[in-house]
Amino acid sequence: MAIRLFNTYSRALEEFRPMDPAGREVKMYTCGPTVYSHAHIGNFRAYLFEDLLQRHLESREFTVRRVMNITDVDDKTIRGSREAGVPLAEFTQPFKQAFFEDLDALRIKRADSFPEATDPQQVRKMIEMIGTLLERGLAYQAEDKSVYYRINKFADYGKLAHFDLEELRSTGRVKSDEYEKENIGDFALWKAWDEADGAVKWESPWGPGRPGWHIECSAMATQLLGEQLDIHCGGVDNIFPHHEAEIAQTEGCTGKKFVRYWLHCAHLMVEGQKMAKSLGNFYTLRDVIAKGYSGREVRYALMRVHYRAPLNFTWEGMEESRVALGRVDDWVRRLREAPSSKSPAFAEATAGGQDPKKHQAPNPKSSGFQDALDDDLNISAALGALFETIRETNRRMDTDEMGAEEAKGWLEWWKRVDGVLAISGEEAELPAEIAELAEARVQARLAKDWRKSDQLRDELAARGWEARDTKDGQKVTRRGGT
Ligand SMILES: [Zn+2]
Repeated sequence: MAIRLFNTYSRALEEFRPMDPAGREVKMYTCGPTVYSHAHIGNFRAYLFEDLLQRHLESREFTVRRVMNITDVDDKTIRGSREAGVPLAEFTQPFKQAFFEDLDALRIKRADSFPEATDPQQVRKMIEMIGTLLERGLAYQAEDKSVYYRINKFADYGKLAHFDLEELRSTGRVKSDEYEKENIGDFALWKAWDEADGAVKWESPWGPGRPGWHIECSAMATQLLGEQLDIHCGGVDNIFPHHEAEIAQTEGCTGKKFVRYWLHCAHLMVEGQKMAKSLGNFYTLRDVIAKGYSGREVRYALMRVHYRAPLNFTWEGMEESRVALGRVDDWVRRLREAPSSKSPAFAEATAGGQDPKKHQAPNPKSSGFQDALDDDLNISAALGALFETIRETNRRMDTDEMGAEEAKGWLEWWKRVDGVLAISGEEAELPAEIAELAEARVQARLAKDWRKSDQLRDELAARGWEARDTKDGQKVTRRGGT
């Protein structure tokens, strides 16, 4: 089965074929965070969808080359650094670091590169592109000294967002306070320096200033991946004006089609409402983890709904995710405890006493998991196939129908599935010091020394491990980490 993806540009499901003549390499660009605060769970929903996409493509033997930018200069970062009274780079640094910690907690694979907008090499590329757009009459310098894109000159402007320029003027979707512009929809490529920018400025042929947000992505994408990309992702709120502008800028410079497949992730709601600081329902990943959830539980909760459907984040949903992962963990543990190949039913079946077909195991290859993801990343159907498999194989273990070989086959299947989902809580082996602490805690509990047991649990937690007491004894798992 071929992979099909929904392309925002055509508003249709299309068969996925990368540009690479060998059909294997995939160039993928994903818009990254603006580092003026901690990213919120809505941002991470988009990053998790991109992670799922990358992992699925890799499981289908594509080689993914991915770039994610870090926006470390814009109005918000400049305002933040002024309010904090520190230079811009000093202000953004802790948020950059926190972002990578959050990626790890959610088990999101690192992109091949994370270019920063303030990197001199990137700024040079942005200036070069703006120069080309000016030469071609696609941009102009206004009285305020800023350089704007002339959207009237780019015939395809509006094609991604699916509205025309007339509509754009009347909807008021663009700010009208920049009166220097020729057209209300023209967007800034270069923002001339003003006092509010303080020390933040770069020299350019048009005077000191800083790049606009949209040109950052065009420059970084083409500099690192080339003039044409296979896949470009982001949240739906990026479609307009950000991605529309990226197309106009890049194609305006190269004359080539910029992106083959545009994929966008729907909004995240919280308890049925739009997430907003004013509503008190605005959560960063850290807020959710502070409530006692692990990174992998958040990963599961944010990933389990199809990326084009709105996701309603609820605390009940977090509990459901915990239960679902517990079922997966129990199932994997059962399979690892290698069912006996001498179990009566199994021995009978293989001894030729009965028709062995009666005891035929479900086939890992036909479980439907991969097919579901091939179908525009239908994660709900893929998880449905996983839990159906768990139900069926558990039943076979309950009735002693599963032998050690079959269990091994399912563990191998699970390894491939988990390479895509990355939700496993089981560690094949605990690091020595963790195993020691875990064993000490078992002893403390046997001695009914609850205080010591709690101490050891806290110590494990401080090292990033979670000790849980289940009916099968203590279970130690990594807290969301890699
Ligand atoms: Zn972008």
